[in-house]
Amino acid sequence: MVTVTFDKVRKAFGEAVAIPSLDLAITSGEFVSLLGPSGCGKTTTLRMLAGLEQPTAGEIMIGERTVNNLAPSERDIAMVFQSYALYPHMSVRENIAYPLKKRGVPKADRPAMVQAAADLLQLGPLLDRKPRQLSGGQQQRVALGRALVREPKVFLLDEPLSNLDAKLRAHMRAELIELHRRLGKTMVYVTHDQLEAMTMSTRIAVMQGGELQQFATPAEIYHRPANTFVAGFIGTPSMTLADGEITMDQGRPVLKLGTLPLELPANHLSERPEGTRRVTVAVRPEDILIGTGSFRANVRLVEPTGHESIVLVNAGDVGFTVRVAGDTVLKAGETIPLDLRRERIHVFDRESGRRLN
Ligand code: ATP
Repeated sequence: MVTVTFDKVRKAFGEAVAIPSLDLAITSGEFVSLLGPSGCGKTTTLRMLAGLEQPTAGEIMIGERTVNNLAPSERDIAMVFQSYALYPHMSVRENIAYPLKKRGVPKADRPAMVQAAADLLQLGPLLDRKPRQLSGGQQQRVALGRALVREPKVFLLDEPLSNLDAKLRAHMRAELIELHRRLGKTMVYVTHDQLEAMTMSTRIAVMQGGELQQFATPAEIYHRPANTFVAGFIGTPSMTLADGEITMDQGRPVLKLGTLPLELPANHLSERPEGTRRVTVAVRPEDILIGTGSFRANVRLVEPTGHESIVLVNAGDVGFTVRVAGDTVLKAGETIPLDLRRERIHVFDRESGRRLN
């Protein structure tokens, strides 16, 4: 089992710097997602690990080996792409066997290896079909089978589910979790879909502008975002982000959010502000309480989704996004009481965006 390390890895395309300096250490057996908006550098990072792009500077290691100068075929990795890239004229069996043939695995050993991969992915009944006779999900499974047949040390997956419809994606997510559990191999997964990253990963590397914003478990990314970018990016609907000021009053931090004064728990901040601190505050939709509390809020919009509704309200001069149970009766235009779960309020430095609590 093998660790993957990026040590001060830089990637420039001519004048344009895609990745300024990336440090990332992936532990053996992890499922790590590289997550971020379009252009953040996640595919470039994966392609450098695969050997499809050469880093401009820095070192990439797989296990004990520096792989910078190794060809993709020498790295003991397997990659699954968004387009499954199956050979249309070959059967499923031949597609899965192809990497074995290419690597000179003796012909007599191949059928058992193909069968093992097919069993793992429940492809047994499909082995004699051609790719065009398979559904999208089945084709994706064949692509996975082809990747795992030669038992690579590390699996690299580049948005492998993005061509599937929503229902099949959910199904394949569950299959990938299962597969990772059974194989116990290191997997690096590129996606811009936070649901995929949140549900499958042991840790998520959130990237933006070529820089790593946070590398942590899904729960930590959700409950303790490291900065305002991660706070705004993770979670659907997004957190409410608003500017405020914090001053200490008799040992307690008091947050002024627009015109709303909010006393925070005494130990809420990891450092005591001197004087008045300019902050950005983030609040999850489920951490806003409606129908209780001392603030008055005006309901602007109610979006029922069935089991819950997303409600936009104004309180003071701040617009909040609130998640309520689907049976909550609310009408646009009405005035309601509102409160915030104080202990769940995320506080960031307004200039640097860094987390303060
Ligand atoms: P997406 O989700 O859209 O695929 P991404 O996060 O995977 O985005 P990358 O493809 O890694 O982003 O691109 C990172 C940056 O590097 C972008 O600004 C992109 O335009 C640039 N880039 C990527 N490949 C090349 C290339 N071959 N030549 C020049 N610039 C490139």
